[in-house]
Amino acid sequence: MKSDLTFQTFDLSPEILQAVKDKGYKQPSPIQAQAIPLVLQGKDLMAAAQTGTGKTAGFVLPILEKLSNTGKTPRREPVQPNQARVLILAPTRELAAQIGDSINDYGKNLSLRSCVVYGGVKINPQMMTLRRGVDILVATPGRLLDLYRQNAIKFQQCEILVLDEADRMLDLGFVDEIQQILDVLPSRRQNLMFSATFSDDIRKLARGILDQPVEISVSPRNTTAVTIKQWICPVDKKKKPALLAALIKDNHWQQVLVFCKTKKGADKLTRYLDGEGIKAAAIHGDKSQSVRSRALADFKQQKVQILIATDLAARGLDIEQLPQVVNFDLPTVAENYIHRIGRTGRAGMSGEAVSLVCADEFDLLTDIEHLIKSLLKRKLIDGFEPSHDVPESRLWRKPKKPKKPKKPKQTKSSQELSSSTQGASTKKKTTPKKAQPKKKYRAKSVSTSVSNSDGSRPPKRKFKQKKR
Ligand code: AMP
Repeated sequence: MKSDLTFQTFDLSPEILQAVKDKGYKQPSPIQAQAIPLVLQGKDLMAAAQTGTGKTAGFVLPILEKLSNTGKTPRREPVQPNQARVLILAPTRELAAQIGDSINDYGKNLSLRSCVVYGGVKINPQMMTLRRGVDILVATPGRLLDLYRQNAIKFQQCEILVLDEADRMLDLGFVDEIQQILDVLPSRRQNLMFSATFSDDIRKLARGILDQPVEISVSPRNTTAVTIKQWICPVDKKKKPALLAALIKDNHWQQVLVFCKTKKGADKLTRYLDGEGIKAAAIHGDKSQSVRSRALADFKQQKVQILIATDLAARGLDIEQLPQVVNFDLPTVAENYIHRIGRTGRAGMSGEAVSLVCADEFDLLTDIEHLIKSLLKRKLIDGFEPSHDVPESRLWRKPKKPKKPKKPKQTKSSQELSSSTQGASTKKKTTPKKAQPKKKYRAKSVSTSVSNSDGSRPPKRKFKQKKR
């Protein structure tokens, strides 16, 4: 990022610049520096930006500018009832709410209408809000489709589509919903897609949505923010709760986000910490939306010291300057490690991420270290040294494939030819008769799996490409 770049460099109206100033932002973050001018120019974007980079302002600020009718932009028709001019899709309720908050903050000096809709709460108030039409609609895919089917939202006036955390959308299985939404959007629109990582599936999805997109990236793929101090603590599984309590007390951690593998595990740990006199709350899919919102609000206001979450809750949480993240369990999908610890060290702030690792989790640890391409520092805590060792790890290498057995030689003459060309070879010869039945069996099993005749779902998710 150039040191002299300021928000004034962009063609943003004074109302928006004032709101940014009020937020205390001094300089645009690298993703904002790249994205804002491109969005203002009306380009389609494919942006690789991990969470915590300031990507929300990267699309919200130029969108507000485009909608704001400030004189720089051509005047637009007012939004009609049950219409939205911008649709922002987010994978989780928390992320949707977070984006909604950002829109309110950055757009506080403009007279634009926005609305956030997600499932798990009553649909009627959302229908009422949409009746007047909104400039910006933030939605999770399932609830948006419910509203569409009930004629509460129409898309004739939709000019911009934003797909935030697209990789998470695919992880959560929203492919079909996204396709259904794309099918009902006007084909002429600007499209912005943000994703922490760009897998083949994401690129395929992008090809169906984006039109000659400009690709931007602010961090090398699959790396963690450099401002985050990361270390692991080898420990026996059964001692993890006590270790966590000790770490919190000994280090005087005031605000900690803890990740657990299961909802049950999160609830159990909450009870344990409460018993230790540490105020904790859990946030996961089994909790009602109001309970989740209250827990998050209490945590943000530091009424609750520890927030315990499962991966589902991970991506939407934005708690400014969150200093501490703990992986009580390692994530089963290595990429989630990056998403989890991205909750700290946000927008250049420093942060710390600690993982409690037991012997059973060695393979998960190796996957993570391979993904982030570095070994995590280890620290043993007195009194919690594991009796089941977590082996020393090294950067994971792809295991070499075992060599295929040599092809059986078919004819006597070829055998003779080969042995004669090798001269007096010392190599052992394979016995052709034993190898043959194995070859037959292999050929049969391949053809069965390819035809997939039982009609079962193929293991990889597929989605239709949008016809342009
Ligand atoms: P995001 O990646 O959009 O979730 O943003 C992460 C955090 O960075 C949020 O708390 C924002 O308020 C903050 N943020 C966004 N842009 C800036 C900026 N230019 N300077 C400082 N903080 C920022």
